[in-house]
Amino acid sequence: MTNKELANLIFPNIDKTLEDYKEMYPRREGDFAVTRFAPSPTGYVHIGGIYQAIIDFLIARNNNGVFFLRIEDTDQKRELKEAVDLIKEALYYYGLVPNEYQLDGKTVGNYGPYVQSERKEIYHAFIKHLIEIDRAYPCFCTHDTLEELRTMQEHKKQRTGYYGKYAKCRQLSIEEMAEKIKNGETYVIRFKSLGDFERKFKFNDLVKGELELSENDEDFVIMKSDNLLPTYHFAHIVDDFLMGTTHVVRGEEWLSSAPKHVELFNAFGFKVPNYVHTPLIIKKEGNSIRKISKRKDPEASMSYYTDLGYPAVAVIESLMTIINSNYEEWHRENPDKNFTDFTYNPTKMSSSGGLYDLEKLNNISKDFISKMKADELVEDSYNWACQYNESLKNLIDRDREYYRSILNIERDQEKPRKDIVNYSMIESLIWYMYDEDFNSREKEYEWKNITDINEIKNILNVYFDKYYDASDDKETWFNKVKELCDELGYASNIKEYKANPEAFKGNVSDVSTVIRVAITSKSNTPDLYHIINLLGKDRIMERISKL
Ligand code: GLU
Repeated sequence: MTNKELANLIFPNIDKTLEDYKEMYPRREGDFAVTRFAPSPTGYVHIGGIYQAIIDFLIARNNNGVFFLRIEDTDQKRELKEAVDLIKEALYYYGLVPNEYQLDGKTVGNYGPYVQSERKEIYHAFIKHLIEIDRAYPCFCTHDTLEELRTMQEHKKQRTGYYGKYAKCRQLSIEEMAEKIKNGETYVIRFKSLGDFERKFKFNDLVKGELELSENDEDFVIMKSDNLLPTYHFAHIVDDFLMGTTHVVRGEEWLSSAPKHVELFNAFGFKVPNYVHTPLIIKKEGNSIRKISKRKDPEASMSYYTDLGYPAVAVIESLMTIINSNYEEWHRENPDKNFTDFTYNPTKMSSSGGLYDLEKLNNISKDFISKMKADELVEDSYNWACQYNESLKNLIDRDREYYRSILNIERDQEKPRKDIVNYSMIESLIWYMYDEDFNSREKEYEWKNITDINEIKNILNVYFDKYYDASDDKETWFNKVKELCDELGYASNIKEYKANPEAFKGNVSDVSTVIRVAITSKSNTPDLYHIINLLGKDRIMERISKL
């Protein structure tokens, strides 16, 4: 019996050959870089995935190339549609829109299907080819046999795995294999390695530079027995070849399997792509540094950022700072450009890990929101609220213009307010501007130096009876507050107050605080003049009457 006959016995219905597929997927012309984001649809989008997708996106964009999305669902156990929707939403939210993809039943691009579970036939043709050229074989070892092998290897302190003399089924004759198949025994297909673990080869990683790795010698599984789908190791080789990927960007946890992948590419005679193994995202915890963890860190999930309403740009910016060490400097020098104009350089990645820091994200986000125009902020926070926060949505719906005016306080100026870190906190910063909330909330009045309620009421009464005038401009308004101070025995001039504090009941800042706290309950708010004007005298008097 020949290998070809064995291959036919295993795949009787596969009649397309490698050559047929090469014709169906012609080499791409004119694309300088082809990258792919190839997530497994687990129902969870990890921050590391978006970090890699940004790099994929940039490499393609910098080189006038193609960035495509491939869904790697050969381990599919969950609801595929929902998991893919999550991936799609994340990519679109961050503006990392692929050039080729298969989403919602629609395929864009000539290299599909872009979903691995729909490519079974293709993989089978490639596996069939490997069997024909004697580089793959069926393995009938049971789970128990493999466990025994592992225990024995561990016991003898040997490298574990199915390799060399331990690759039992490799020693079967073709006839024996055929016999077992005909008898209905279950099997997987393994790659037949020709490598030698003691031999090293040079492996070039664009981030880590030239490395010396041990050759692969494992006869690893390329097709599983249960669903006849290929493993990741095998499927991505076939896909990256047919789809013309030039740069494989993936987490560094894959580096240890790179020798397997290189041997597979070589067995087919395919060119090995460029590799960008991205360093781990790490975080500080006390004095130590550890990998960001799905289990321990809510910020490892991309839903953390959308739930809290961080503007997409802020999240991207925070990731860009760990993608390339020169990014911040570049952005300072090019304030009008955005990350899509940046040229990604793999050698400017810290190979020891990207230190991610929420504090930094918060600063970037605060800064970004502070520079947004009021209209933009209204629009963006409203869109977010429609999906994630009904109560803010309702508040904006009540009076969009009023909401805009509140957000516009201290905005269009050289040093704008920087109190908004994300959209989910907006309500907690502006609730007191809404009577319903103001009346219904349990509030603690944050009085400072002046706490005597009679004195407080006296200040308020005199001020609103005698000095307040809705038509005053800001300067006139403040001068009147000073006049009020003079009348009531408070220092209108801080210098004078400091020189002789005993001569006064307090100073102008104490008086402003009384007005501020009385109408908002807070001692710290944006500009009081604007707050007073937005609330208007009637609503203010109503609030004061309840003190
Ligand atoms: N599906 C693999 C993962 O989610 C992708 C690795 C790769 O990009 O090749 O980890």
